[in-house]
Amino acid sequence: MPTDFPDALVNVSSLSLIAGVRVNSGATFTVYNRYTGKAIAQIDQTSQEHIRQAVIAARLNLKKAPDGYERSRILRKAVELITARKQQFIDVMTLEAGFTVSEASNEIARGLDTLEISAEEAKRICGEMIPMDGNPGQKDRLAFTLRTPVGIVCAITPFNAPFNALLHKVAPAIAAGNAVIIKPSGYTPLTASLICDVLLEAGWPAELLSLVHGEGAQAGEWLLDEQDINFYTFTGSTRVGRLIQQKAGRRRTQLELGSIACTIICDDADLEFALPRILRATFRKAGQVCTSIQRLYVAQSRVAEVTASLENAVRALKSGDPRLGDTDVGPMITEQEAIRAESWIKEAVNMGAQLVAGGQRDKSVLAPTILSNVHSGMSVFDQEIFAPVVTLLPFETVAEVIEGINSTPYGLAAGVFTNDVNTAFHLARHLQVGGLHINETSSSRNDGMPYGGVKDSGYGFEGPKYAVRDMTDEKVVTFSLRHP
Ligand code: NAD
Repeated sequence: MPTDFPDALVNVSSLSLIAGVRVNSGATFTVYNRYTGKAIAQIDQTSQEHIRQAVIAARLNLKKAPDGYERSRILRKAVELITARKQQFIDVMTLEAGFTVSEASNEIARGLDTLEISAEEAKRICGEMIPMDGNPGQKDRLAFTLRTPVGIVCAITPFNAPFNALLHKVAPAIAAGNAVIIKPSGYTPLTASLICDVLLEAGWPAELLSLVHGEGAQAGEWLLDEQDINFYTFTGSTRVGRLIQQKAGRRRTQLELGSIACTIICDDADLEFALPRILRATFRKAGQVCTSIQRLYVAQSRVAEVTASLENAVRALKSGDPRLGDTDVGPMITEQEAIRAESWIKEAVNMGAQLVAGGQRDKSVLAPTILSNVHSGMSVFDQEIFAPVVTLLPFETVAEVIEGINSTPYGLAAGVFTNDVNTAFHLARHLQVGGLHINETSSSRNDGMPYGGVKDSGYGFEGPKYAVRDMTDEKVVTFSLRHP
């Protein structure tokens, strides 16, 4: 029988961290085991006064940020420390996020890549030479740009990638030499707490690191009210992203938001190659990934074959307790979320959709589900489902697919399986998305590449090189040469 990993929570602080010091406000909230529903920790609800102190300490100590060489060393040291504690990170994520062991291990591997790449970036932050003599009468002038840290970066992160989404914000912020204030999802604060301990142990200055816990509508909004914060980097829902954009005013933001991610199977696709990738990209983390395939567009000539293969594959998936090594699909973040997704499936079926597989729910575990015959007017078609549910959409022409994908309010990522370079290039030019992956799914990501969305999926790129660029200011310096 699986245990509740009692050792996993030993030495994980449940307190807030204000300028490197653990504090508590007296008020707490509860974190649960996502599968059993049992309480596993009581976490400090950071007070507004503590948030104020975090911002003041960061502002007063910005000059303590070490040089690029040292920042790189600290990030590499963090890789070493996390690698040594990998099992604890896996166990904590399995408990608080409901990830299967393999999903948690994959998240760690990717987060370590993010740290490594950020460590490289810390050593090569530079501006550029400006060709002043391109303007008349300027041949005796030289100019270049300097990149300097923006100041205080606030990272607000979601529940569905408590390790890597957080590191995609914190590691570039540190690489760029900024102070960081982190506000993780209230569902998954323990992984964030472990990461902060590692960063301090690796040598990051205490005054430049704070961890704020609590409800988004309270602690999150208190952070947005702090005018001394220079930059908000946010991953989460479009609703909250809009609010952050409004409240940030003239301060800079980077927003990674919701999506209805789509993948296309063309008539020439290699299904044997595509199918395992599609399964992973649809049901990984119980479908709670912003790039999870919600719409699978299938060429009419391949519909019968794709439906049968996918149905067989889905029926073989084991869903349930994420602590068991052979579980493929674990619980959703809450039972209410599973009930919400189940109700959207029922609504679709009542409106004429066909349930190809799945649909059943056991508390917070929703069985992997395939629906066909879906159309506009159904929630599963019109809104982000964020659950282990895929809809099959037959198509005759590529133009239809482009119209379908571009008519969603979102534009994060898409994938296409085809050997036809003309079709692939046509899609690359015409789809309104932040990334198109050819012979991969919408969920394909390399942690070094630029990653971000358009339309309601947000703006600004993650990927350490691009995040470091955004988390620095560029200043131009000119010289007029005086001839002897
Ligand atoms: P969420 O928007 O509910 O919460 C995200 C974070 O914002 C949490 O830390 C939360 O406490 C905080 N928050 C909530 N209300 C706030 C407020 N009023 N002010 C300030 N902060 C507030 O999102 P979630 O449910 O944790 O995550 C799921 C969503 O995230 C999905 O829509 C998904 O598509 C999106 N997501 C996007 C990406 C991407 O890269 N584009 C990646 C992962 C998740």
